[in-house]
Amino acid sequence: MCITNREVAMLRLLTPHANAHARQLIAETGAPLRVTSTLRTSARNRQVGGSPGSFHLRGRAVDLTGDRYTLRRAADLAWDLRIGRGCTGPEEVLLEYLGTPRQHLHVAW
Ligand SMILES: [Zn+2]
Repeated sequence: MCITNREVAMLRLLTPHANAHARQLIAETGAPLRVTSTLRTSARNRQVGGSPGSFHLRGRAVDLTGDRYTLRRAADLAWDLRIGRGCTGPEEVLLEYLGTPRQHLHVAW
């Protein structure tokens, strides 16, 4: 799938490790996923109801939208994918608000 310039710019705000993981996850899922959140300021995090210790505040989490089948497949892949030797995979893989207009997959590394 094609990732937009805006999404590339958002992903660059992540730590290099999280950015690499997110790019890999999007590529491997092989169906449309859109990047809707990466690094957040604390103000933005409060505004969207993020948890106070959110990985988004440290540039370690990405939110992805897509249809629910794609999100489920991406969630499974996120648990399995590794980058290099010694990579222990994600810290969090959360399917949030499934079946609602807010549905998304949150993954933190
Ligand atoms: Zn998130």
